[in-house]
Amino acid sequence: MRVPIIAGNWKMHKTAGEAVDLVRELAGLVAGIRGVEIAVCPPFTVLAAVAEQLQALGGGIALGAQNMYWENEGAFTGEIAPGMLRDTGCRYVILGHSERRQYFGETDTQVNKKVHAALAHGLTPIVCVGERLEEREAGTTEDVVRGQVQGSLAGLTGRQAAGLVVAYEPVWAIGTGRTASASDAQQVNGFIRELLRGMFGEEASRAVRIQYGGSVKPDNAAELMAQPDIDGALVGGASLQAGSFAGIIKNT
Ligand code: PGA
Repeated sequence: MRVPIIAGNWKMHKTAGEAVDLVRELAGLVAGIRGVEIAVCPPFTVLAAVAEQLQALGGGIALGAQNMYWENEGAFTGEIAPGMLRDTGCRYVILGHSERRQYFGETDTQVNKKVHAALAHGLTPIVCVGERLEEREAGTTEDVVRGQVQGSLAGLTGRQAAGLVVAYEPVWAIGTGRTASASDAQQVNGFIRELLRGMFGEEASRAVRIQYGGSVKPDNAAELMAQPDIDGALVGGASLQAGSFAGIIKNT
């Protein structure tokens, strides 16, 4: 069975002091919870501080980054390489988040290069896909998601695909307080698994963890997580406070 993964996407929030306090409090609240993997994805500037704190706390919470570049090193001012994330203690990296796509022009082709680079360095990508409101209203959700999944995951082997985390995040649900209904989310997550089955085979598609993301809160987590093809959550706003993030984890 797939172990659900709850990942906190802190986005552009938290100083080092705040970050360390948050993970310390979180670790206390989730101590003893089994059967769910927990990850936090802070901004680059506090990864090292959080890594050190997590290690001191005993390693029950994994570390992830929110983005990276695909080259190993070189003259790429302002970018971060996959090896640097590994060196800092990251296990995960969020790739292709809708905010990256929307504000920084990331394309499926670029996300695909990042996915390959992450895997080559032993990082597990959390690959984000999801439709915008006008696309949902136009009835093109499945076409949009299909294009993103095929484009972002092109050229992977079945074995590589099996280890992935995919996050279905309808853009209209992110940070809006407007969650997709559990059945709408399940429908798209199931569609994604079916797509992956076509691309990578039965075994890989059964192994991939597919999260839902978009205004996940402690009080809607249980219903979402009970869906057969929802294997965890990518949590933004509610991951910025230990109490609400722990509440989601407890309800998974
Ligand atoms: P949200 O963000 O939980 O604040 O809606 C989710 C995300 O963007 O990953």
